[in-house]
Amino acid sequence: MQRRVWFAGLVCILAALALGYAGWRSFTHTDADQCYACKRPIHAHSRTVALVDGRPRLFCCPACALSQHEQKGTPISITRLTSFLTGKPLSPDDAYVVRASDVNMCERTKELVDADKRAADLRYDRCAPSLIAFAARSDAVQFAREHGGEVMPFSQAAAAFSK
Ligand SMILES: [Zn+2]
Repeated sequence: MQRRVWFAGLVCILAALALGYAGWRSFTHTDADQCYACKRPIHAHSRTVALVDGRPRLFCCPACALSQHEQKGTPISITRLTSFLTGKPLSPDDAYVVRASDVNMCERTKELVDADKRAADLRYDRCAPSLIAFAARSDAVQFAREHGGEVMPFSQAAAAFSK
């Protein structure tokens, strides 16, 4: 009887450890806000979800996700964009984007660009030119007025990448 209680206790402890480990694993997994493709930290207002080989993956921005399509040659489809203004999820079907404005949420080497423009221009960045997403065309137009860039429906920007 004594043995049995001891054994039950051990089983409980092991179960608790296993659960704790699983919880920790899933926590660190979901909390890793890193781009699937470029490993950059994901900015909350440019977060993009795309299906890669049937699995939803997080990308740092629409441009990065669309570059994935270009490099691997396998079709990926973007299932969710994020509104730059509100941080709320956007359906790609009715979103507008501003392409190639002076805002790039993924850019980490701004000082390099300023210091040596030619070298920076030659360097390939999968997140450039940037695509900034908006729910309404009027918001996109307003943004482009302040930051430059071209306003277009998201579908048009995506189509340009598949050529
Ligand atoms: Zn990325």
